[in-house]
Amino acid sequence: MSTSRPYDALRGFIASARQMVAFTGAGISAESGIPTYRGDDGLWNKYDPARFANIDNFFSDPEYYWSFFKEVRYPAISQAVPNRAHTALAQLEQKGALKAVITQNIDGLQQAAGSQKVLELHGNTRRIICLQCRQHQTMEAVHQRLATELPPKCPACGGTLKPDVVFSVKRFPWM
Ligand SMILES: [Zn+2]
Repeated sequence: MSTSRPYDALRGFIASARQMVAFTGAGISAESGIPTYRGDDGLWNKYDPARFANIDNFFSDPEYYWSFFKEVRYPAISQAVPNRAHTALAQLEQKGALKAVITQNIDGLQQAAGSQKVLELHGNTRRIICLQCRQHQTMEAVHQRLATELPPKCPACGGTLKPDVVFSVKRFPWM
């Protein structure tokens, strides 16, 4: 079977679609340098996703999450730029062919590529929320404070800060 055949089929779907949305996950951002949970990147060997992504652990051991954020997540997200796949989806939207992107990703790269309608199923790690007063902060502002404050507290009320993303309530099934 020709390797171009899947792309021909995709091109046909796009050309004939009346309404179109795109579902995206970790694969679309891997080329931008965002590690996937299931990849063999060494970053994930230092921090255990079953711990840093678990909500009970976040509350009982917030230093673990924020150390992961400081050393791994923030550097990865802040340095990443959209790749051609993000750009292609943004262009399809601009042409009126794509209604929205629905994504599991929390990296904000689809918006950075220019997409206007992005539905984030798991939230966005660029946004940090105070669980007490609900104020939002940028990840840059919180990352700066991590140099002297671990875990960081809300500057307005002293409350618990949490990245505005979905955490798991149990171990991932593949672990
Ligand atoms: Zn607060």
